[in-house]
Amino acid sequence: KDLKNADLKKLADLGQGNGGSVEKVEHLPTGTIMAKKSVLIDAKSAVRKQILRELDIMHECQSDFIISCFGSFLAEPNICICMEFMDKGSFDGIYKQVGPLDAEVVGLVALSVLEGLTYLYDEHRIMHRDIKPSNILFNSEGQIKLCDFGVSGELINSVANTFVGTSVYMSPERIQGSGSGYSVKSDVWSLGISLVELALGSFPFTDPPDDDDDLSDLEDSPDATRTPTHRDSFILTQKTAKRQSRRKSKLAFNPDGQLSTMSIFELIHQIVQEPSPRMPERFPQEAVDLVDICLFKDPEQRQTPKSLLDHSWITLVRESDFDIRAWASSF
Ligand code: ATP
Ligand code: MG
Repeated sequence: KDLKNADLKKLADLGQGNGGSVEKVEHLPTGTIMAKKSVLIDAKSAVRKQILRELDIMHECQSDFIISCFGSFLAEPNICICMEFMDKGSFDGIYKQVGPLDAEVVGLVALSVLEGLTYLYDEHRIMHRDIKPSNILFNSEGQIKLCDFGVSGELINSVANTFVGTSVYMSPERIQGSGSGYSVKSDVWSLGISLVELALGSFPFTDPPDDDDDLSDLEDSPDATRTPTHRDSFILTQKTAKRQSRRKSKLAFNPDGQLSTMSIFELIHQIVQEPSPRMPERFPQEAVDLVDICLFKDPEQRQTPKSLLDHSWITLVRESDFDIRAWASSF
């Protein structure tokens, strides 16, 4: 199919991220409602074509747990990706609207994300790389699907905005830039953080302590002298950075818009040194246990998405008769 901007009528803005913006559009020739993501890219034309080829993988993704893709095209200077529209939006917006989510809902998110990750990895040998509530979408059918997975290495490298690579959802091994230990298990860490966030109704890592004790501590640690070179690991997303700077004035921006080195080390310190977040007590023991497994600091101790599908919490969720469609129509 030949998708082009001239055939697409904008119906609404759905949101904006670091990489670009998403609109609800109607494909006029067919009447199909779609979500169109526009990503501003900084790349030569050969690279742009390579990106489009890589995005073709998205067409081949056929899973109930993965957003389907109608096609992608160039609209200079953007690359546009037209995907399935999910009328209930993403889970960050949902918990901000309805508050902390119940175990039944969080359980279905866990099941769906694990199914999606297993599909991407087993069928296409790709990792997601950006698991977080804003990339987990919901519709009034009660379906839960993943979007924004890392199909295109070239696209990741060419996003014009400097704030690429996610931040606070990154696993310890990824934020430390240890390339070898960076695997599908990093997605499992990000899932664990996301599940706790949905259960708490807020981002799980606590604010850095306000006194400077911990910071002097940090300066003595060998890591603090390390120069951040691993781009993917040390650049925070704009939104996260803004959110954090609102919470804590100590976080400062360099002229190039990155967080100051100290702020980056504060974040690394939290993810690497502080105890991992845990599921709240009100959750079933099975849920607490699954999240504990997701949030082992050592990736070797974490399990793969596929083996987590056999976890007792997931079994409970599969056997539950919770009516997710009814829940979807409740807000
Ligand atoms: P980041 O850029 O850090 O990944 P993000 O995921 O919030 O952040 P985008 O991927 O640009 O940014 O998405 C913006 C918003 O658009 C999302 O929060 C989501 O709510 C909405 N959205 C994205 N895709 C769809 C879709 N297929 N259907 C409905 N809403 C969508
Ligand atoms: Mg997204």
